[in-house]
Amino acid sequence: MTRTSSTAVRCPECGRQQEVVLWDSLNVTLDPELKEKLFEGKINIFECIFCHFTTMIDYPLLYHDMDRRFIVQYYPFSSLMVNEDYLKMFRKNGKIREIPLSRTYLEEPHIVFDMNEMLRYILFREKIFQIGQD
Ligand SMILES: [Zn+2]
Repeated sequence: MTRTSSTAVRCPECGRQQEVVLWDSLNVTLDPELKEKLFEGKINIFECIFCHFTTMIDYPLLYHDMDRRFIVQYYPFSSLMVNEDYLKMFRKNGKIREIPLSRTYLEEPHIVFDMNEMLRYILFREKIFQIGQD
């Protein structure tokens, strides 16, 4: 499922505030154009409507490819450093606690802390999918 939320963001450049749509998750099988937007750097970007200052918004993002059967979850690296509640989301083995132990990829998101790493991982999964080995 593709999911967005809306939040007020203050421009770090001119200080004026505007509503920004944040993407929580992208389902690129149902919404393939979102994959293009992601690779064009247009997801979770703040662009000031007043002064045109543009910057990335460091916000968690889940990427779901149903055809290739994988999920990538991005979390801002800062959440790892400052927020113990964040760490409590995980089992010792690095898996997300809320998700019952299971064998399907839906319950095994790959976690990254860098948007470039997310893109690299997507490319990695697409390349091994092309090779098609079990
Ligand atoms: Zn501005």
